[in-house]
Amino acid sequence: MLNILKENYGLYMKIGLIGFGQAGGKVADQLVEYAVGTDSEIIVDAVAINTAKADLMGLENIPDEKRVLIGQDRVKGHGVGADNELGSEIAEQDIQEIQNSIDGFATHEIEAFVIVTALGGGTGSGGSPVLAKHLKRIYEEPVYGVGILPSNSEGSIYSLNAARSFQTFVEEIDSLITFDNETWKQSGESVGQGYESMNDELIRRLGLLLSAGQINEESGTVGESVVDSSEIINTLGERGISSIGYASETVQTKDKGLLDRFRSSSNDEIDDGQKTNRMTSLARKAALSRLTLECNVDSVERALVMFAGPPDHLSRKGIERSRKWIEEETGSMEVRGGDYPIPGSDKVACVILFAGVTDADRIKEMQQIAIEAQDSIDEIKQESEDNLDDLLQTEEMSDDTQDDIDPLF
Ligand code: GDP
Repeated sequence: MLNILKENYGLYMKIGLIGFGQAGGKVADQLVEYAVGTDSEIIVDAVAINTAKADLMGLENIPDEKRVLIGQDRVKGHGVGADNELGSEIAEQDIQEIQNSIDGFATHEIEAFVIVTALGGGTGSGGSPVLAKHLKRIYEEPVYGVGILPSNSEGSIYSLNAARSFQTFVEEIDSLITFDNETWKQSGESVGQGYESMNDELIRRLGLLLSAGQINEESGTVGESVVDSSEIINTLGERGISSIGYASETVQTKDKGLLDRFRSSSNDEIDDGQKTNRMTSLARKAALSRLTLECNVDSVERALVMFAGPPDHLSRKGIERSRKWIEEETGSMEVRGGDYPIPGSDKVACVILFAGVTDADRIKEMQQIAIEAQDSIDEIKQESEDNLDDLLQTEEMSDDTQDDIDPLF
């Protein structure tokens, strides 16, 4: 019965997921964990690609045979440091090896490829645009990027890498969902200390957005106003930058305490006005609080608002009002809306996808960095090469121990 429903609706997004580099691999690995934990079927297949053996070994959810070590002849599994030109060369050189891992995907089921990467590092920053170009040539499905911007405190190499990779990656893909470490790191902590909570925030938003349109396994519940994968694809568009907002609120569920059972059943009905108000205020909060990439929402071309939560707390009117509010706020006439009922859930969540972002200070800053860096490029390159030499020397010293622990590659 459920299978028939699924075939007929074909609603949710089915993705081929690629984590490139350290941060990309970690986030992809966590997205797989999210999908497994929520019984979601959004990820058809996933691979992690890296030049650093140790990073691949640290993953927990992407199976060993889906972890691809590239550039072994060049960097011997030690990574490329922050040399994203080397990252790009290695991806070009080993593209067939990467393709072989994607050949194992059930590509007939996949509606989109998603490449997750940090833009400020070396392997993913250099390699992701190369891979995106390759995938666009071979497949008809859209290719999206999830790109992590470095914090300013990480130094000029990271900023320069990000500025360049950002530009080339955006050229190659359909949309770049951007996450900015600068905005998300907590004050008083280093960027590194914040990775866990930053990754949680990113996964929460991405996971929910991609899960839209799924049918609840137990109840067979489909939303009143379903967001299907084609609406996400149409909102993301075929070029540009995207950002995601999120807000949630805990609600009283139907599983009540003993005392409540003696109260009149009319109290069980949740007031319609209350539902609608909660939903519209969640939409406001999601749009106006911190986005994955801070931007002027009146500069966006398209948006999609989706609510998830217990079905009796969701209403068509709430979706419609929120959609209208976002239309006014963005000035866009292309705002989609819908819901994703999750029976038994104790919170109502709102996720908003803003696409076609044109006004974001951080993007301007990146472009400025790229221009200024042309002047000091040799200096920065030297710094990057020195770092790589140091890295290779240190790691060569510990080579024997490394080889002992790795049965995988
Ligand atoms: P690569 O392995 O050479 O592709 O480089 P990395 O993925 O390590 O890229 C370095 C950038 O990623 C820096 O800007 C780091 O702050 C960022 N980064 C590394 N790990 C994480 C993480 O788990 N979460 C987030 N948000 N950023 C990360």
